[in-house]
Amino acid sequence: MNTNFENIVCIENSNKRELHRAGWIVVDPFTIIENGHLEIENGLIKGVHKGAPKEKSIDHGPGVLMPPLVNAHLHLELSALKGALPFDRGFKFWVKMLLEKREALGDEKLIKAAQKAVKDLFNSGNLYVGDISTLGIIKPIIQDSALNGICFHEFLGSDIQPFFIQKNDAVSFSVAGHAPHTSSPQLLKALKRQSKLYGLPFSIHVAESDDESEFINDKKGEWANFLTSRGIDWSSWDIGSKTSVAYIADLGLLDPLTIAVHVLNVNNKDVEMLARSKAKVCVCPRSNQNLHGKLPDIDQMIKKGIQPCLGTDSLASCDSLNIFDEMAFVGNHYPKLDPETIFAMGTINGARALGIEQLTGTLSKGKKAQFLYRPVKPMNKKDLLQRIISNE
Ligand SMILES: [Zn+2]
Repeated sequence: MNTNFENIVCIENSNKRELHRAGWIVVDPFTIIENGHLEIENGLIKGVHKGAPKEKSIDHGPGVLMPPLVNAHLHLELSALKGALPFDRGFKFWVKMLLEKREALGDEKLIKAAQKAVKDLFNSGNLYVGDISTLGIIKPIIQDSALNGICFHEFLGSDIQPFFIQKNDAVSFSVAGHAPHTSSPQLLKALKRQSKLYGLPFSIHVAESDDESEFINDKKGEWANFLTSRGIDWSSWDIGSKTSVAYIADLGLLDPLTIAVHVLNVNNKDVEMLARSKAKVCVCPRSNQNLHGKLPDIDQMIKKGIQPCLGTDSLASCDSLNIFDEMAFVGNHYPKLDPETIFAMGTINGARALGIEQLTGTLSKGKKAQFLYRPVKPMNKKDLLQRIISNE
């Protein structure tokens, strides 16, 4: 799917006062203004007003000004693997091929593809990201780009290596644990502790694969054999008779600064536990469909009070990193979700998960003057969000 923008407006560090008018302004999913304008000063939104401005202004046209999109979970370093891996031979085979092909490509090709992916993200209005990198090659690419958000350095196994955490205005650096079944409890707890000290989010894939669930719940299965064959002693891990979500809760990983990614193989209690902890949940439905042939139960999450955000995972499991495409997929596969909810998933919910809701996620007063213009022609307010999330 192509996203057709007439332009993307991105104003930062400008001390000029500017007025931007359009046929519609989506301040947030529940605040939509017909024929309005944004007042910008010092790179921030100073006000949102009804009607055409009386002073000189920039008129974008009959379409809509809206907040930029937030992709809260992606792996830019895997961009070179787009279309290179089969989905029909199972998840384990996919992971095996991913590791082999990533190794064979080498850093230079991985970096080049990631740079292109970053440009595509910007051009499609995805200005904020939560990037996961195990190789540590993406940090400078994001720093040199117009994208903002969080670079998560991801760790797995049991070795606790030195890591760098820093909170900044534009791009912050935090850490991620790969998953409950691939990382020792000591490592996961250490990573969580450090990111929390800096007030930054910690990210972890959880409840994604059947192998993961079987290992955590039954202490056996192919994953248990694999770890043992690698000489990894997991006998002291406090697993067995519990779900992945219950296990990471027991480790003390669930709090409002944790992003639980995927949340695919969960029961009612797990969802309640996540909701109670106020941990953020990031779903990647297109990736789940391709790799596991099933989708997360977003309806149930919302019923229990979770406000999930959207990620795409990598181009190795999904054909674009564009949240407009992810919203369109969600719209097509979750008929009970209203357009307001889906729009929030691609904007403010992602900003909350990354802890940057004071900067972006809506076009309300005080937020950064970054917004998208889309040339949609809606029939009415209700139709507007539907057209945006359908990526028309
Ligand atoms: Zn992922």
